[in-house]
Amino acid sequence: MKFTNSPLVTYTNITSHKTCPREKPIDTITIHCMVSQWTAKQCCDYFANTRRECSSNYAVGRDGSIGLSVDEKDRSWCSSNAENDNRAITIEVASDKEAPYAVTDAAYDALISLVADVCKRNNVKKLVWSSEKEDRVNHRNGCNMTVHRDFSNKFCPGEYLYERQGEIAERVNKILSAGEACEKR
Ligand SMILES: [Zn+2]
Repeated sequence: MKFTNSPLVTYTNITSHKTCPREKPIDTITIHCMVSQWTAKQCCDYFANTRRECSSNYAVGRDGSIGLSVDEKDRSWCSSNAENDNRAITIEVASDKEAPYAVTDAAYDALISLVADVCKRNNVKKLVWSSEKEDRVNHRNGCNMTVHRDFSNKFCPGEYLYERQGEIAERVNKILSAGEACEKR
């Protein structure tokens, strides 16, 4: 397994809260809500300095900044599930502190670009979302998007991002298939 990190990263502060290396190739995306309208720097610095055992591979800030907190080669402590985080790229996205935990347009657009880049570099051809938890946790029908609430009694990623998982997959897949068409010419 050869791992890289996203060239879209604008800030890096690697935390010690992780398990090295990850045990599985990357084939899953897990999007979380930060419950704070932080920048990528604020989130990465938090993971680097807190005593809480938490982290994510990437953090997307309210301003569209993208932070790296755990290298892709390593497993983050993000989704309350080792099996998931061994195969997933976890991404914290700056959000409001209250329901529906909305994110800014800048953060949303940066998230789409980041997820498309992660898929391209890790040879994930297509993102598949399902509104059924059983499909997600069992990776049925190629389902490769999970959410924190699948593994723990949490509202994460919040209704705003939860309701947009299908749309995120659609937008990312458009970018992925456009890339493919270019290569075939
Ligand atoms: Zn979460």
